[in-house]
Amino acid sequence: MRTPIIAGNWKLHMNPEETTKFVEAVKDQLPDPSKVESVICAPAVDLDALRKAAAGTRLHIGGENCYFEDEGAFTGENSPKVLKEMGMNYCIIGHSERRGYFHETDEDINKKAKKLFADGLTPILCCGESLETREAGKQEEWVVRQIKEALNGLTADQVASLVIAYEPIWAIGTGKTASADQAEEMCKTIRETVKDLYDADTADKVRIQYGGSVKPANVKELMSKPDIDGGLVGGASLKPESYLQLVNYQD
Ligand code: PGA
Repeated sequence: MRTPIIAGNWKLHMNPEETTKFVEAVKDQLPDPSKVESVICAPAVDLDALRKAAAGTRLHIGGENCYFEDEGAFTGENSPKVLKEMGMNYCIIGHSERRGYFHETDEDINKKAKKLFADGLTPILCCGESLETREAGKQEEWVVRQIKEALNGLTADQVASLVIAYEPIWAIGTGKTASADQAEEMCKTIRETVKDLYDADTADKVRIQYGGSVKPANVKELMSKPDIDGGLVGGASLKPESYLQLVNYQD
C-alpha cells in the first residue's frame, strides 16, 4: 500500500517569520502520517525556521533544490549533505522552473538524484511536458525520456522509495488543471515505465504525484485515481487553511 503524499512547494515565497507562523497554524490539524503524509518544501533561507517549527509535529520537510556535490567552490548552491544534517526528509529536483529558467539538464537531475540518495534524502523528482509538446501529441514520449534519464543508474530499492511528480508545464500556476483522466493517464505511463526499467514490485511501490493547479476543489477527484498517490502543490499550499484542506482531503 502506498501512503498518499501531499507536498507544498512554496517556490520563492515566504520568509522565516511567515514560515514559523504557517507551521504554528497547521501543526495540530495535520493527518496521521500513516494515512496521508504532509510535506512542505521551502526556500533554503527558510529551512532553519521550518525545521525548528516542524520539530515534534507530523509535518515532513524538504528543500526545493540542491546541487549534486556536498561541498566545494560552487557559489550559491545548496549542499544535499547539509540539507540532511538540517533534518530535511525530501528535496524537489527537476522542477520545470529549474529546467526552464536555470537550464538544468536531465543529466544534472540524475546526478542530484544519486547524491540525494547517497546522503539519505528522498528526491521528489519532477517531470512534465510543455503545451507545445502536448499539442504535438508527444507528451508520453517526452515524459518517458525524462524518467529514463533521471533514473539512469539508480537501484530498484532507491526507485521504490522515490517520489515522482508529474507536472504538465501548461497546468502550473495557470489555474488550468489537467483533467483527472489526463493526469491519471500519464501517472500510469510513468508507473509502467518504472516497471519496464525495473520490475512490478518497484513500480507498485514508487509514489507518483500530480502537480499543476491542485487545489481544495479538485484534490479529491485527482486522489481518487489509482495511479495518483499525491499532489505537489504551489499556490494552494501558501495559506494554512487551504493547505489543511488539501492534506485532509480524506475527511
Ligand atoms: P501550482 O504549482 O500548484 O501553483 O500550479 C505547482 C508546482 O509548480 O509545483
